[in-house]
Amino acid sequence: MSSRKIALVTGGSRGLGKNMAIAIAKKNIDVVITYHTNKSAAEEVVTEIEKNGVTATALPFDAENINALDQFKNEFLNTLQKKFNTDKFDFLINNAGIGINAPIAETTEEQFDTLMNIHFKGVYFLTQKLLPSLSNGGGIVNISSGLARFSGPGYSAYAAMKGAIETFTRYLAKELGERKIKANTVAPGAIETDFGGGAVRDIKQYNDYVSSATALGRAGLPDDIGGVVAFLCTQDAGWINAQRIEVSGGMNI
Ligand code: NDP
Repeated sequence: MSSRKIALVTGGSRGLGKNMAIAIAKKNIDVVITYHTNKSAAEEVVTEIEKNGVTATALPFDAENINALDQFKNEFLNTLQKKFNTDKFDFLINNAGIGINAPIAETTEEQFDTLMNIHFKGVYFLTQKLLPSLSNGGGIVNISSGLARFSGPGYSAYAAMKGAIETFTRYLAKELGERKIKANTVAPGAIETDFGGGAVRDIKQYNDYVSSATALGRAGLPDDIGGVVAFLCTQDAGWINAQRIEVSGGMNI
């Protein structure tokens, strides 16, 4: 059995998940990341992590495909066994996600279901299925959004699912406390990634708006987020539980 800690980061091929995976690895924690479409990008993240002497690997995962969650679970457990010689892992980081911007009047049922599956149903049931394999004393970090606190027109469905994740996280903390498993939400503000077509990063007018709405005067960067999630995977954060930690530079306060 491995005595090293292991984290699973969904959506670790790009953006915030990539940054989280690298930051977690810097805490000397082994990492399994998932990718959806970008296998080669995920492999580059694995290579970057392994340069620092930490073991990492990447698995395909589609959060939208609820029927395939059992298959993913089996692949993940096989990987734990083969690569890490264990049947347990320590930290589950539910990060994978997409943005769909549509006003309430124009949101289709298909868009709603896609967001529901990726951001809420997939997270709920992936977590449920992995609970028996999560070590007692481990942790769960669910990624929400500043949009669950303040309102950004066009994000009603997305933000509602993120609100659901925040509620789910408190229930996880309550029910898993007896196993000494902590559960927290990290809620980033607007960050410069590919998310939502890269709007925060690539559309100057939007970036300027985010900067003006943020007390610290700029849009967020992936480096603002990964270290916070990594900190939650350390003993120093051992008494932080059932919290929503917004990491937004003070957006819309
Ligand atoms: P990116 O678009 O940069 O990265 C998205 C990641 O999720 C990629 O690794 C992608 O995999 C993966 N992914 C996309 N669709 C699926 C799917 N159906 N199943 C499994 N994995 C999938 O986004 P961010 O890094 O910015 O976002 C990460 C999280 O942070 C999301 O939950 C998002 O809601 C949240 N967030 C982002 C904010 C922002 O401003 N960027 C603000 C607040 C919250 P692949 O590359 O292989 O396709």
